[in-house]
Amino acid sequence: MPLVNPLGMLQAARKGGYCVGAFNLVDYLTTEAIVKAAEARRAPVMLQTSSATVKRFGVKTLATMARMAAGSSPVDVALHLDHGTDRDVIFEAIREGYTSVMFDGSRYPLEENIARTREIVEEARAHGVAVEGEIGVVAGVEDDIVIRQDEAIYTTPEEALEFVRQTGVDFLAAAIGTAHGFYKVEPRLDIDTLRALREQTGFPLVVHGGTGLGFDVVRELVAAGACKMNVSTQIKQTYIDSLYDYIQAHREEYNILKVLQHAFEQLVEMIGGYITVLGSEGKA
Ligand SMILES: [Zn+2]
Repeated sequence: MPLVNPLGMLQAARKGGYCVGAFNLVDYLTTEAIVKAAEARRAPVMLQTSSATVKRFGVKTLATMARMAAGSSPVDVALHLDHGTDRDVIFEAIREGYTSVMFDGSRYPLEENIARTREIVEEARAHGVAVEGEIGVVAGVEDDIVIRQDEAIYTTPEEALEFVRQTGVDFLAAAIGTAHGFYKVEPRLDIDTLRALREQTGFPLVVHGGTGLGFDVVRELVAAGACKMNVSTQIKQTYIDSLYDYIQAHREEYNILKVLQHAFEQLVEMIGGYITVLGSEGKA
């Protein structure tokens, strides 16, 4: 199937009380692994790309890979630009076939964040592309942005409603104490705020920083209203560790396809595990 706008799958998730996994790809092997895992569990899924990956390959290459992987798949697959900060890159992604984009204006004062987000929404709408906005600040390392966990700013329902009303974004990243990368200290998650956001707003909520949360915590976040959960660091870790382990154990193996196949299978299994915990299994 062609790549789909994720708004439908996220609204269904909101209604159905489950969550769609948004997994970061870094190459074609990870792209295929994400789609394969979604197919195996009959789950809708979001592929997403970080700014660093976009910088390395360009949106055209990434969109082509995503289209190829989704093209032969019976499940709904969306392609999302994660943490877009550069207007030109976001517009290019929209033109090249991304089906949703995130504008991360969290480093700007609220008024400026709103104005810049609104401009992105207008361009995206004209192309049938969905937009994720962010207010508050998610802690951790996202490419070159470093936010200490105690510096993260939490979102309030009033702010969130006002932000969505003024910008027209389709879904919102809620800063509730999750962080990018690995957790350096035990996260102080504000699950009550997430629940309040779900009850007081009508739009799907996104939780960033899915890596390293125990599956019991992930289930709790889904029950409290997370409709999209981002998983990135875990993909990189599984990829590298599985290559490392295999190479250590098979020092004479130079069949690169065999080595990569091992990583592929580990990735499919790990991603499938997230899909099940998020509750999107069987929802495609
Ligand atoms: Zn994020």
